[in-house]
Amino acid sequence: MQIWLFNPPTDRARIEALEQIGVDTVVAGEQALDPLLETPLKTYAVAHAFPATGESEDLTIDIYGQPFQWFGSGCPNSPAIRTQFYRTMDRLLKGNIKGVFLDGVRFPSPASSETNSGFFSCFCPRCQEDMTTRGYDRETIMRDVRQTADLILTGLSTTLQRWLRDLCSPAGWLTLNAAYPGLFAWFKYRADCITDFVQELSTWMCKSHTGKELAAFLFQPCLAYFVGQDYRRLSPDLQIVSPMIYRNYPHRPGPATINQEIMAMATLLWEGTSLSFAQCLQDLLHIFGLEVEEELPQNPDSLISMPIAHVTAETLAAAAFSGPRSKVIPIIWAGDHRLPETIAALKQTGVEQAILFTYEAGVAAHKGQFHEILADRLRR
Ligand SMILES: [Zn+2]
Repeated sequence: MQIWLFNPPTDRARIEALEQIGVDTVVAGEQALDPLLETPLKTYAVAHAFPATGESEDLTIDIYGQPFQWFGSGCPNSPAIRTQFYRTMDRLLKGNIKGVFLDGVRFPSPASSETNSGFFSCFCPRCQEDMTTRGYDRETIMRDVRQTADLILTGLSTTLQRWLRDLCSPAGWLTLNAAYPGLFAWFKYRADCITDFVQELSTWMCKSHTGKELAAFLFQPCLAYFVGQDYRRLSPDLQIVSPMIYRNYPHRPGPATINQEIMAMATLLWEGTSLSFAQCLQDLLHIFGLEVEEELPQNPDSLISMPIAHVTAETLAAAAFSGPRSKVIPIIWAGDHRLPETIAALKQTGVEQAILFTYEAGVAAHKGQFHEILADRLRR
């Protein structure tokens, strides 16, 4: 099993220490690339897919017409954002790197939105027009997404409970699909946008930067489709699919982390109704098929953690959903206090590499033992 590092150290002494224990590949932001490219390490760059431009017309807009920024990002369909992104990619790929990992290649999630309604986006004029151009029934989409947002954010507890009960069974999902066709079309529209973006990028890279790899940090499979990421359709254009599986990420905000995304969803449900927080959380865990390691918190101030089995289950799901041409390399939290067990469990899934996010977190959490943990795992 090989261990790669995301956000590695850049000073010579610590890089040599890593090389000595067998770490040979790293993933880093543009600002850290220069010193890494002077070393024998194989280096991938990370690129922010939809960086905000500072211009209001490039912002994402929610179903209530409110513009907002999320994860430093704007609307995935903004031409100005795409131009800026391609310029960055061109610059990165001219360097001596192996390839690029996309980050934030998605729409806003509950935990990455600064407003309660941010998840229910993007309804900027550009995206609305694009829905129609692609053959979607924009009015039905907007009606059903609006009704769903109203229900979750301000709805009656009894109606919301019925809705949550529907989400617990396949028959309930079919009922919801019939009742809210626009909601399901909206999810598909968002997956179309992200898929097309990655396809175009992959084609451009094959032509303009032949031999460089395209990789992506994706939401783990149980969350991915909610933000427009469809593993089945994305993997043919990705050499590396990297599900972000941070089972117990402790720092807030933690967008993309399963423990914080679920807490953010529970908070949205809880704030709009008289249901208890624990009940909202319990229902969501049931719907997503999740278990937690500790007692359920009674309010959103606490955090939850998923068991190690969750990391292996999601890695296996990513492998099952990805085609044979892409390699699955999960990225996990380096500060996990059960890191050696988590890596050992990952090895059982058959993956050959795992990425640790971030190097410093591992050093801080495991102190003098971090390099020993890595060396030990690399030997096996
Ligand atoms: Zn938009």
